[in-house]
Amino acid sequence: MSRNAGFDEERIKSKCAAIEGLDFKIAECEEELRRVHEKAQEVLGKPKIVSVCACGTEISEGTKFCGKCGIKVTDTDGS
Ligand SMILES: [Zn+2]
Repeated sequence: MSRNAGFDEERIKSKCAAIEGLDFKIAECEEELRRVHEKAQEVLGKPKIVSVCACGTEISEGTKFCGKCGIKVTDTDGS
């Protein structure tokens, strides 16, 4: 009886160690997933900054006029 209990304990311990290992792997994957999501948000959410206005406002791609002072912004590839 007591031998059986000891055996079960060993088995449970080894199972727990295996589960802990999986938990660690899951945490690692979740961390990576979070990072990928952040990168995706960065790429999709933020417009690409192509220029900076004289007033210091960042000019996103496709924008012709500064959103702050309203002056026309010259493109980086323009004259
Ligand atoms: Zn401006």
